[in-house]
This record gives sequence, C-alpha cells and structure tokens, in this order.
Amino acid sequence: MPGPVDPLIPLSLLEAVRTVDLPDNDFEAEFVHELRNKRLGLSDTVFAQIKRFSEAVRRKQRTDYAEAVGIARLIGRRPDAEAVFREAGRNFARQVYGTISPVTRKMMRTLPALLTRPLALRHARRVARRYMHGTARRMGGSIILEVSESVTRDAAPKLGGCAYYEAALRELIQLMVGGVGAVDHVRCASRGEGSCEWRAEWRPLRGKG
Ligand SMILES: [Zn+2]
Repeated sequence: MPGPVDPLIPLSLLEAVRTVDLPDNDFEAEFVHELRNKRLGLSDTVFAQIKRFSEAVRRKQRTDYAEAVGIARLIGRRPDAEAVFREAGRNFARQVYGTISPVTRKMMRTLPALLTRPLALRHARRVARRYMHGTARRMGGSIILEVSESVTRDAAPKLGGCAYYEAALRELIQLMVGGVGAVDHVRCASRGEGSCEWRAEWRPLRGKG
C-alpha cells in the first residue's frame, strides 16, 4: 500500500463534487433542501469531510492513501466523473499555486521565458513530490509529470480518473507562466505501463520569451 497522501488531494476532490453539484439557477436554489438528498456534493457528509480535510491541510497532517482512493472511486461511479476530476485538478492547482510567494508568482508572469521556465520547473517539481507521489522534469520544450501512485487511477472508466492530474498540470502551468500548450497522457498505469505520465508543452505569452 502506497504511503499517505497530502489531504489537499481528497479535499480538492470533494470540493469539486460540491462545485459541480451546486444549484445552478434560482429555481434549483429554492429546492436546495430536496437537492441535498439527491446530490452528494450538497450532503452533510461531504460538508463534514471538506471541513475535516481543510483542518488536516491547515495542520499539515497526512491522509491514508486508501481513504483518498475511496473518495476517487465514489466520484468515478458518477456519469459526470471526468468533469468532476477535471474540476478537482484545477482546484488542486489553484490551491498549490497559492502557496507560491507573491513575489515569485509575479516574476514568473513578467520575466522572459528563459528565466521563468527554470523557476516554474522548480515549483512543478516541488508540487509533484510534495503532493502527488510524483516527479516532474524537463524534456526539450515540455514538462513531464510522472505519478507512480495515482489516487485516481482505475477510479473511472476510459481513464477518466487520470483527467485529475492532467487538469492539475495544465492549470498549474497556465497559472505559473500564463500559457500552456498541448497536454498529453503519454503513459498510463491503467494500461499496464507501470506509472502514469503526462507531457505538457510550454507556451509562453505572446511577445514573451
Ligand atoms: Zn493514467
């Protein structure tokens, strides 16, 4: 069994369930009490778990790998699983981006690509190691993210769970350097290839670089 994970992983998954399940118009909002019974994201259980994982993030506690996998599997049974995993990945990226100092964030958005890429790569490495049981490295004009113990692998049909890490990588690069090219899932543990790997192209802002 892989080691414990950062509670930000299950937190981002549950917050995405809540976001996707929020009533999206006034009519639905009026029936929020009824919706609460039908939509997991509005349930007291999810509310309580979000509170618990937020607290764990604040206290820098870790979460059992199996518990995080259980939450991913629960999401994986939904017909909209892939959309929820993508929303969760973006949520995760926004939260880890928030842990980078404002000075560094500004530098990454304003300096030439020659200087910002090594800086962004260093942060991608830290995020991969600290939160994802993974590694990040540069390969030519791309960043490679490798995750050996994915929490969402096999969680949903058609590699839907892998969309979590893909969306996280895309959003993180977008936030750090202001642009990102194609993100491809080049290797997948679910296809028996050992670990999951994504390749994201750098794409600096126009006029930068
Ligand atoms: Zn995969």
